[in-house]
Amino acid sequence: MQRSLLYGLLILMLFLIPGGHSSLFSLTGEARSGPQPFSGNVHSAIIPLTEIAETLHTTSPVDDYFIIRGEVFFSFPLPEPDLLKDIGHRLSVDRLENDSVYAYADRQGFEAFLSTGIPYQILPPPGKVDFDLNMKGLEALRGKDLSDSWDFYPTYEAYIDLMYRFEEEYPDLVRIVDIGETVMGRQLLFAAISPDPGQRRPVPQFMYTATMHGDEPVGFILSLRLIHYLLDNYGTDPEVTWLVDNVDIWISPNENPDGTYRDDNSSILGASRGNANWVDLNRNYPNPVNDPAAEQQVETTAMIGFTDTIPFVMSANMHTGIELVNFPYDSWRSHQRRHPDHDWWEFVMYEYVDTVHHYSPAGYMTGMGDGVTHGGDWYVVYGSRQDYFNYYRSCREFTLELSDRKIPEPELLPDFWGYNYRSLLNYIRQATFGVQGFVYDNETGQPLEAELFIPGHDSTSMAVWSSLPFGDYHRPLYAGEYSLRFDHPDYEAIETEGVEVGNYERIRLNVALGEDAGTRPVALDVQKDGEGVIFPFEGLQYFTEGSNAHFSALADEAWEFEKWVVDGTDYPEEQVSFIVTEGMEIRAVFKESDPVFVQEPEQPLTRFSLQPNPMSSSSELVLGLAEQETLSIVVHDMMGKPAGHIFDGVKPPGEHRFLLTNLYGDLRPGVYLLTVEADGKYRRVKRLVKLP
Ligand SMILES: [Zn+2]
Repeated sequence: MQRSLLYGLLILMLFLIPGGHSSLFSLTGEARSGPQPFSGNVHSAIIPLTEIAETLHTTSPVDDYFIIRGEVFFSFPLPEPDLLKDIGHRLSVDRLENDSVYAYADRQGFEAFLSTGIPYQILPPPGKVDFDLNMKGLEALRGKDLSDSWDFYPTYEAYIDLMYRFEEEYPDLVRIVDIGETVMGRQLLFAAISPDPGQRRPVPQFMYTATMHGDEPVGFILSLRLIHYLLDNYGTDPEVTWLVDNVDIWISPNENPDGTYRDDNSSILGASRGNANWVDLNRNYPNPVNDPAAEQQVETTAMIGFTDTIPFVMSANMHTGIELVNFPYDSWRSHQRRHPDHDWWEFVMYEYVDTVHHYSPAGYMTGMGDGVTHGGDWYVVYGSRQDYFNYYRSCREFTLELSDRKIPEPELLPDFWGYNYRSLLNYIRQATFGVQGFVYDNETGQPLEAELFIPGHDSTSMAVWSSLPFGDYHRPLYAGEYSLRFDHPDYEAIETEGVEVGNYERIRLNVALGEDAGTRPVALDVQKDGEGVIFPFEGLQYFTEGSNAHFSALADEAWEFEKWVVDGTDYPEEQVSFIVTEGMEIRAVFKESDPVFVQEPEQPLTRFSLQPNPMSSSSELVLGLAEQETLSIVVHDMMGKPAGHIFDGVKPPGEHRFLLTNLYGDLRPGVYLLTVEADGKYRRVKRLVKLP
């Protein structure tokens, strides 16, 4: 007796018990061998009772599908578009392929589907594989050289341990951020990678996440490997170093650990698409057309809450089940509504896929013909994360489908890495192109949160915003000429015309709002001599003519600020302001510090930390002194005006703590510089940020 026939009968029996749908089965049956998909329609079969009993004793598929598992995976012939749209919302459509629909359903969804009378095939759950998953536990993974092949899947404990080990081994490059718990209390983690980890920088914020469908773990491994690759190659590989220096990279390898570790923490065998409540998290986000059928899950709430605090510019979420890239929107076909940056999307998506094709064997990532599709042209879904981020958060997110097989053999994982990692890096790099800059108040230089809208191009849902504490904005754009409008409720809007952008080009346009602020962008050649940063502006700059430009210079270790040179005139102050005119040249000059001053004492400050920063009322400055010092600790705003005194006087060697509680109450939101000066012997500066 074929097992598949047994499955059929048992499912039939189960549906007879609650009643209602048995008449919908048009019974046809055929014998199959091996672990073939089973047809839901069976003519007749004579089954010895002993065999039924035996099957029930072991892992009965009925239990599997409808009692133990709250989701069923099945396929059916592609119905009429209207019918698909109708039932599609009740199911979780995984993909359309060869005129078949592959879908998951919970019990209610499946019952709704059965009422259509469409013939179907139950498929084995993709999480139930019959090969060795090469699961690596905590100890095995600790002993593994991670520069070596990543041909394994980690246990849950090994995964969590590995994330925190990244932080231990690379404390200067990564922080692990816990954004909340799953239904079952597992952790949702991000690795935040930056040379200043834990601090917001005025650079594009970028996010990769994977495995929001728990049974699609290729992105899980690729994300972990990407974290390691970035950390391991920083400082030696110039491309990686540049990326990490210029982008804040956030990576969450597993957004649905309850689904991945469905049966238990020691294996991904039996992984499910849905979370612990059997809800498809990629149909669970707010949607502009049709709200999700299921209640918002804690995993979704955690992601929305976390990403509300960070102005992500670009992101992607990784899946398996097919091999393609899918760009917005999911909620509409491209003839109904296109993303305002449709051209940019096509350009960036083909960059991704063409690079993959160059490094992979023929046939890989060729879903929908050439591996690129507008989401809704493939099939319309509501509640996807992609549309949430694009429509509500002005973040450009696409869906990356890495493998036809949901869970491939672990020995294939290094191949998927080899095909994709260059494209993954290229996509991060795209966040650094387009138009970007700072928006600030013309008088005070304080950063502003303003809307950047491109008339005739953007739709209302696609404007981007400059964000505090720095007032920086980042707007990827396809090559062309654009008008940019900057809007803030307290100021008159400014519109600059004729801003030309090329692909792989970065235009920095800084905009002052307020009285006397100009509207025409003019280039300023901003240079620096020696070592230092010009804060917040750096490199070739466009400012609006007539606006006030506010510059601040910060010296790196072993260098000292000497002067600004603006159109041939020297200014010794570290902060300068001037009215922008065309052709202006501005240069910051740093000189090497006196070697005696650097060497003695070698580490005059054994500790200089400011936590938390952005500040709270409990922020604290900790100074470690090698010897007794006469200290002056002062805070200035970006214009060089004193904003508060923290300490003046003598302190003995050792650690000293200064609470910033009073200062916190006095400061307006913005960026400040905290300076520690030791009686003319040395001077150290830290950026201090207060959020609104
Ligand atoms: Zn998926």
